[in-house]
Amino acid sequence: MSIYARWQVPEIINCAGTVTRLGGALMPSQVVEAMAEAAYQSVSLEQLQAAASRVIARITGAESGLVTSGAAAAVTLGTAAILTGLNPARMEKLPVCTDFPHQMVIPRDHRNGYDHAVRAAGAVLVEVGFNEPQAGSGVRCCELWEIEAAFGPLTAGVFYVCRPDAQPALQDVVRLAHQYQLPVLVDAAGQVPPKENLRRLVASGADLVAFSGGKGIRGPQATGFLCGKRDLVAAAALQMLDTDEHIELWAPPDDWLPRQALAGLPRQGIGRGMKVAKEQIVGLLVALELYVQGAYDDEIRAGARRLEFVMSQLSHLPVTCQLVASAEGELPPQLHIRIDPVLLGRSVWEVCRNLRCGKPPVYVNTSELSRNTLVIDPTNLRDDQLTVLTSRLQEELGVVRMA
Ligand SMILES: *Cc1c(COP(=O)(O)O)cnc(C)c1O
Repeated sequence: MSIYARWQVPEIINCAGTVTRLGGALMPSQVVEAMAEAAYQSVSLEQLQAAASRVIARITGAESGLVTSGAAAAVTLGTAAILTGLNPARMEKLPVCTDFPHQMVIPRDHRNGYDHAVRAAGAVLVEVGFNEPQAGSGVRCCELWEIEAAFGPLTAGVFYVCRPDAQPALQDVVRLAHQYQLPVLVDAAGQVPPKENLRRLVASGADLVAFSGGKGIRGPQATGFLCGKRDLVAAAALQMLDTDEHIELWAPPDDWLPRQALAGLPRQGIGRGMKVAKEQIVGLLVALELYVQGAYDDEIRAGARRLEFVMSQLSHLPVTCQLVASAEGELPPQLHIRIDPVLLGRSVWEVCRNLRCGKPPVYVNTSELSRNTLVIDPTNLRDDQLTVLTSRLQEELGVVRMA
């Protein structure tokens, strides 16, 4: 019996991918075992985070790192660090930051719901450029000169949301910002895989980069990490860690938290509600090491095999199936199942709802619904779920309703 059945929560078949609302990635057993082991021992969180910083630095090439409770938390903490630097008086004021530079410049087409994480620290987003291709009115989004024109006395830094085709190019934005001594914070939550992005984005010179731990890295869902410049990572750490300590006794690892650079020990900071447990830190580190060692590489082929099986079971149905390889590589393909709503007698929405309401509930990836296409992502699919999945798909896609 599933542990979830104890509370009458049905287990689902997740063909949507590592989405947060369906629990993120499934963790490898080595990660789960390491977390269980970590749970039975006490350690200093500062020492554990400093050790994590060394691992993150080795893997990303950054000076320093911090395990956070997700990429969104890393973005809030990174913003807080940019607003305050190592100034404890400023740390104590957040999210109120009107009397020091608090504007984060962002290309307009980088705006998205997750940028709430920047605003949560108190920063104000200053949008520049347009999204003319989206509006159908032109060919340009945001250009460097528009970012430069927005810089002023209240500018704290630049916020950049990474995707493979993001414009302007990250290294150009970094070069421009650094001409004005302004830092660049990058949301790279979903940019691994490919593995090379772990180093490439830091190598762009960006001051802080935020990654998710519970997506491609397959660590605990509520983890992520921030990596970048030592003082900024230290400022982020100070606003998340439990700082309720006597200053006479406080002795954080000096290569990670430069105690002598601080006027005093800040009190519990704006990131205190984003704390990370020792088990999560251990889980993230084990997952990160597995990931960079290539432990998941076989999953690409295994995922493709699962999809080929599903596809073979749908061949007699009035649908069009196609395996679509990942554009960025290092990810399994996805299966696109295109339906004809007229032939089927129901919309793609109805099919999706029926799949979710069935037994067991099946959640497909909904990114192509506007094209009447269900997408099956094999990342979180287990082999033992394949026959049930295919029979549910056959039931929902096989009946042609007579008009
Ligand atoms: C997933 C995602 C986040 C949030 O990451 P968490 O690790 O779940 O906090 C933030 N930004 C973008 C662009 C994402 O895709």
